[in-house]
Amino acid sequence: MNPCIDCKIYMFKHAKELMAETGASFLVTGEVLGERPMSQRMDALNLIEKRAGVKGLLLRPLTAKNLEPTKPELEGIVDRKKLLDIRGRSRKPQMALAKEFGITEYPSPAGGCLLTDPGFAKRVKDAIKHGEFNAENLALLSVGRHFRISEGARLVVGRDEGENSVLESLIKPGDIIFELTDHEGPSSILRGGASENFIRIAAGIAAYHTKFRLDESLRVDYWKSGEQRTTIAVKPAEQFSVEEARI
Ligand code: SF4
Repeated sequence: MNPCIDCKIYMFKHAKELMAETGASFLVTGEVLGERPMSQRMDALNLIEKRAGVKGLLLRPLTAKNLEPTKPELEGIVDRKKLLDIRGRSRKPQMALAKEFGITEYPSPAGGCLLTDPGFAKRVKDAIKHGEFNAENLALLSVGRHFRISEGARLVVGRDEGENSVLESLIKPGDIIFELTDHEGPSSILRGGASENFIRIAAGIAAYHTKFRLDESLRVDYWKSGEQRTTIAVKPAEQFSVEEARI
């Protein structure tokens, strides 16, 4: 899984459709050869163009002289002599260019979006594998610690107060919410599993993520949105079973 390559293929496929709609004859991006190790290597640039069906139609003015001439250059629509040959990870040439053009407001170079986070990618993969990859779950995948309780059920445990509030805002009908009965602690959501066994396993994992994890027994409240709370006493899960379930 290489999110930036997949993402760009998707973007350029979509851009190609827009070309047909708007009558544009080529595309332009700010990509630079070698700027990003995974998605802007020569082979990755070529692969992206090929898979998106935009071979020869994608002009990368900042780095064009490092690449084969594109259709607009060959047809004389764009003068290749005026294009640049920037390559590599340094952003200094781009910044110097921005200065020359009087452009002062631009985002600082960053490591990539959430899709490039290995933890998030792992959770996306798991969701795809279990047929849970949809818009509702996507928001949930970016919050908290995730645990696979069964084929169709995942538990999400908030890591701090901020995440607890986000989790609460993502509750949908059918989700089961967990909170410690007698102490402050994380909010957790079980999505996709409501059997008594899954509830006990989930409550044990939720109880593990508190400072009372060594207690023999903890009381945990659980409820579905709009319904009455039920209280159960569980032994906090053991570390190995928590790690085993961790997505
Ligand atoms: S950083 Fe995110 S938005 Fe940018 S190309 Fe990669 S996956 Fe796509």
